[in-house]
Amino acid sequence: MHTKPVPVPDEVSAPFFDGARDRKLMLQHCSACDGWSFPVRERCPHCFAAALTWRQASGRGTLYTFTIMHQVMNPGFASAVPYNVAQIDLEEGVRMVSNVVGIGNDALRIGMALDVVFEDVSDDIRLPKFRPVAG
Ligand SMILES: [Zn+2]
Repeated sequence: MHTKPVPVPDEVSAPFFDGARDRKLMLQHCSACDGWSFPVRERCPHCFAAALTWRQASGRGTLYTFTIMHQVMNPGFASAVPYNVAQIDLEEGVRMVSNVVGIGNDALRIGMALDVVFEDVSDDIRLPKFRPVAG
């Protein structure tokens, strides 16, 4: 059973979570400057245009950095420690915080190639996680 806090989508972030439910990693893209952005926002962080649309991202990236959580800061994570919290640089040029799954924490390496997977956390919410690319 999933015991961790579950995100509550709002009007602006709903397309991200709708995409994740369909196992698609959706990011905002600016039609004015061709830039990608994350986290979700109302205006482009590069040129401030309100011209953001949603596009499916590649789901590919590399591990920028990570830390290992040993302390239980929220009781919902008690069975998860020690777990990694990772920053992933996506091919689109944005950095996302998630977890690397399918690999032991000892095997995490900065720069390793990762690919998105989706984890069910409730009946309505799936979250993007990342796994090492085979080979
Ligand atoms: Zn822009």
